[in-house]
Amino acid sequence: MSAYDFRAVEERQQARWEEENLFIAPDDPSRPCYVLEMFPYPSGRIHMGHVRNYSIGDVIARYKRMRGFDVLHPMGWDAFGLPAENAAIKHGIHPARWTYENIAYMRKQLKRLGLSYDWRREIATCDPAYYRWEQLFFLEMYEKGLAYRKTSPVNWCESCGTVLANEQVLDGRCWRCDSPVVEKELEGWFLRITAYAEELLSACDTLRGWPEKVLTMQRNWIGKSVGARITFPLAAPTASLSAIDVFTTRPDTLFGVTFLSLSPGHPAALVLASGTSQESAVRAFVEQWGKAPVMERQTDVKEKLGVFSGAFARHPLTGEEIPIHLANFVLMEYGTGAVMGVPAHDQRDFEYARRYSLPIRTVIQPKAGTSWDPNEGAWEGPGRLVSSGMFNGMESDAAKEAIVAHLSGLGLGEKTVSYRLRDWGISRQRYWGTPIPMIHCQRCGIVPVPRKDLPVVLPTDCVFDSSGRSPLPSLQDFVNVPCPSCGGPARRDTDTMDTFVESSWYFARYTCPNEGNAPIDPKRAAAWLPVDQYIGGIEHAILHLLYSRFFTRVLRDLGYLQVDEPFTNLLTQGMVLKDGAKMSKSKGNVVDPDAMIQRYGADTVRLFILFAAPPEKDLEWSDQAVEGAHRFLQRVWRLVTENLEGLSSGSRNKELLDPIDALPAELRAIRRKTHTTILRVTDDLEARFHFNTAISAVMELVNEVSAFLSQAPKNAQDADGRAAWAVLAEAVEGILLLLSPMVPHMTEELWAMLGHKVSLSQTPWPQADRQIAQAETVRIAVQVNGRLRGEIEVPREATEDDIVYRVMQEPKIRLHMEGKRIVKTIHVPGRLLNLVVK
Ligand SMILES: [Zn+2]
Ligand SMILES: [Zn+2]
Repeated sequence: MSAYDFRAVEERQQARWEEENLFIAPDDPSRPCYVLEMFPYPSGRIHMGHVRNYSIGDVIARYKRMRGFDVLHPMGWDAFGLPAENAAIKHGIHPARWTYENIAYMRKQLKRLGLSYDWRREIATCDPAYYRWEQLFFLEMYEKGLAYRKTSPVNWCESCGTVLANEQVLDGRCWRCDSPVVEKELEGWFLRITAYAEELLSACDTLRGWPEKVLTMQRNWIGKSVGARITFPLAAPTASLSAIDVFTTRPDTLFGVTFLSLSPGHPAALVLASGTSQESAVRAFVEQWGKAPVMERQTDVKEKLGVFSGAFARHPLTGEEIPIHLANFVLMEYGTGAVMGVPAHDQRDFEYARRYSLPIRTVIQPKAGTSWDPNEGAWEGPGRLVSSGMFNGMESDAAKEAIVAHLSGLGLGEKTVSYRLRDWGISRQRYWGTPIPMIHCQRCGIVPVPRKDLPVVLPTDCVFDSSGRSPLPSLQDFVNVPCPSCGGPARRDTDTMDTFVESSWYFARYTCPNEGNAPIDPKRAAAWLPVDQYIGGIEHAILHLLYSRFFTRVLRDLGYLQVDEPFTNLLTQGMVLKDGAKMSKSKGNVVDPDAMIQRYGADTVRLFILFAAPPEKDLEWSDQAVEGAHRFLQRVWRLVTENLEGLSSGSRNKELLDPIDALPAELRAIRRKTHTTILRVTDDLEARFHFNTAISAVMELVNEVSAFLSQAPKNAQDADGRAAWAVLAEAVEGILLLLSPMVPHMTEELWAMLGHKVSLSQTPWPQADRQIAQAETVRIAVQVNGRLRGEIEVPREATEDDIVYRVMQEPKIRLHMEGKRIVKTIHVPGRLLNLVVK
């Protein structure tokens, strides 16, 4: 017997996997399964969050291989971004060198974890062979009007000479240099994601494999509201301005309007005030508002402040004069930048009306029995209309339609749909990114770089000074180019693209990473996409996932892809905490994966991470539990190595297993336990990746086998002994097979010791004998809207949630639910599940 020398074992097995090319994905898969983890930013070292993310993905990839799928499981680097540039400024090391050195180190770390990647498909987004295609997409999008240039207000740091994202503005100051951040109107490139707003929204309903939480965040971000545009004519119209258009989702409250409020950024703001006694007050207010950071203006302001503009509008139905105010809580970016003030039925308007002594007029009466005091706050719910002229007595929903129809007949309004989603500004005044392939010519204006001149390679011979500015605008060789159109002197666009662009299509490039003639080979992409299982942090619930969904549609419409959605199933893993808090340098609670792997081995770290919590929940680091995981692996090691002879012979005598009735009761019990464990683990992996309960189930089996062995050591030679070893071999081989996706190195080593020549990753996943395990499972009839649509076998202890989840994985049953949502489930345990869908 040998001691569990995890260092030697892990090194040996990793070398073997590489030598045997076990994880290479074919280009023409017959049963494709694409498993993908969000690729990392090469910051220098991997952290425990990465270890968790990639361990989860690796278990799924290895499991699917054993289930007979051709698995694509690639890895790469989201390699552009600001930290590389900061390192350059701080330490004088070029961003490219910094990035590639980090990649080399992190690649080694990932290999050390035994992750089953097809390293031949590795990509780094800072490689011109990658970003050249992004430049091509940009040109194609420009031709289709999906990329365009406009001026917009941005957060600007004068000393860094750059735009700052909202997250980079801390208390109105630059996160890097602490100078005050100012607003600046800047021209830049935008991608027209809003053209896909409706499709991105409605397709959320088809993403059944996504967490509801993420879908809700996406829906809210897109923020569709159906409402009305209503025209309020000015009381004193001029030649240039005769009316104000407002946007509202509550046209039923029209008779409750006692003021209008405009964003201080509204183009009419100063026009209205001009020549009135309010002119100077309005000017001061607008100026003050302009000084607030953009971010502050885009979020909900705490204090509702405003000023009377000096002008009045007329109510479109009553003709009453309505004062027009400018208010800091009205966003120019939303709707028309003007809203109607209905203090009785909008809390924000209520607070504002109180502060500025504006009338409050109730026009919606809540249902009888609702307690509402009009003096205390607004009633924002629906109800019956009062004090609303010809619409009195109508319910809110009907009144909305009726009032808009009436206004529309008068030419004073129409039904509208608006979205919160804005177009995606991608210009960054940064160096370490994809150059935007555009040229500015004084004579011709904007001229795209001709395709034959792609890629526009990011120049690397530049110096970084402490100013923090991008060196690109001062690189004369780069900037000055002849205009492709007229040949005259012209300048390159010196901005680079938002790094989210690179991560919006990398999953498609993995299907054909070496394609040199096109960004994507439609055939190979079609063979693999969409990604079957995507795994990453919840912090990407909106931007990255939404941009990827947008890009997938754009690439579909450009003819590269044949899918609408990039990711069929999404798993958002929880965080790794220590002492109840997210690991961070500043808190001093970081556990370094390298140190843990050094001390316990990759298998132990993986096992701990997978066992400590279900994947979507946060995980609390525990040194003791790591020790526990390590001890468990040592037990399994001893269980096999101390009984090698008996197990090897048992493995060769499988015919002694049947018929099960011929075995003594204690052996029958072990066989039953083996097969129920296979069922349970399969179910846990298949259904929800409940690795923790899967591992528990294997631990129980290990206990049972160990207990049997300690009580009745068997002589392999006599008849009883031979049957016993056959049963034990079946159990132990089951243990190794079931653990192998999670603990790949040690199981592989022990598997070989038992005499198996073929790698576990090429060995089929064990099949439970249902007859043997039968006592433990039940068949459930599945109905959709009361009609029988199939049957499903589940463990007896499966919960209703588990069963619904399993049912959703059955294509035949799903067929009957296409485009519908489950509104109710009726579960008769052990017999029936009825899904009521609409
Ligand atoms: Zn700064
Ligand atoms: Zn020109």
